Amino acid sequence: MSITSQPAGSPKPVTLDMVIESPPALFQDIPQQSSGALISGLLRVTPKTGDVVMNSITMYLECTTTTKKPVEARCRECMQTVTDLYEWNFLSKPKTFKAGEGTADLPFSHLIPGHIPVTTHGQIGSIDYSLHVRAKSSDGQETEYRRELIIQRALRPGNDKNSMRIFPPTNLTLHVTLPSVVFPIGDFPVTCRMTGITTKNDDSQTRWRLRKLTWRIEEKETMVSPACSKHAAKVGGEGKGLQQESSREVGTEELKQGWKTDFSDGQIDGEFMAAIDSSKQPQCDMEAANGMKISHVLVLELVISEEWAPNKKPHQATPTGAARVLRTQFNLNVTERAGLGISWDDEQPPMYEDVPASPPHYQNDHTSVHFYDENNIQGEIEHLTLNN
Ligand SMILES: [Zn+2]
Repeated sequence: MSITSQPAGSPKPVTLDMVIESPPALFQDIPQQSSGALISGLLRVTPKTGDVVMNSITMYLECTTTTKKPVEARCRECMQTVTDLYEWNFLSKPKTFKAGEGTADLPFSHLIPGHIPVTTHGQIGSIDYSLHVRAKSSDGQETEYRRELIIQRALRPGNDKNSMRIFPPTNLTLHVTLPSVVFPIGDFPVTCRMTGITTKNDDSQTRWRLRKLTWRIEEKETMVSPACSKHAAKVGGEGKGLQQESSREVGTEELKQGWKTDFSDGQIDGEFMAAIDSSKQPQCDMEAANGMKISHVLVLELVISEEWAPNKKPHQATPTGAARVLRTQFNLNVTERAGLGISWDDEQPPMYEDVPASPPHYQNDHTSVHFYDENNIQGEIEHLTLNN
């Protein structure tokens, strides 16, 4: 996309520039609750060829959605959709910009609504925002200016999430504690406890020993590639699209130690640090009305082997040769760090009328302890043959 389109050899009557005065556009909270982000700045107009009369100066807040997998290969209309979200008209009638007065600053501001999807550069789809200015002089010359606007979202951290997984027909239960939100940069703790590892009989016991723990973070992306009117027939009509999916690994590690095994209590305890690989340009979670969605899961794989020991001599264990892989996954909420930035409406002291009679209610504010994850609590078991 070109920044300016200028016929060769004709000097533009004005140059355009922009100063953004507001802090980086950062939404707080989920789309349904976010108060949005305030942007403000100055459009700077400088006459270049003497006094000039401008008929109109208009600025658009543009959202550009791009798909890398268009319905029709190499069709620009299938690949990219541009939507104007907001429009500023700086001039209500033609205005003279005097060369002697130098640069004129035209102020602008707007509250960007917090429900829109944030700037995203996924494996299939992208969402970009820009401020696009079109200025027309009285002699018909047009000057354009475009400035990229990055919009991000930060979810406030809440209580840690406790999840449980069972692995029938074994007695094994895995309890995992994860932070409520994780960030694309930096590590986070994962606390695990496995119970039910020892089964005692009259004289002997069988028990599971953890050999290896592998964690993996997967980034999942879905998108509906739209079709332009020319190629709508390819997807069965106007308004329909092509469902696309992509999944990639954005962090993994194999651990062979670092946990404490207590066979008499029948449990294993451990904590490790996991992290998203920031060199993979991970994206934050997002969901857009056009069907684009990015989410993350933490996959845990535990390799366990069975051993047998007499109750009188529990330290004299013999491997039975049986082994299993336990596999399960947990949702991760990947979000930008809120950092020192505060929501624009938090900056203002509350007005008397704004003070609620009772504490404000937030949708995600649970007073009960969440022990179960929203997805199925049953993990997956794979039988394994161990050589050792
Ligand atoms: Zn097309």
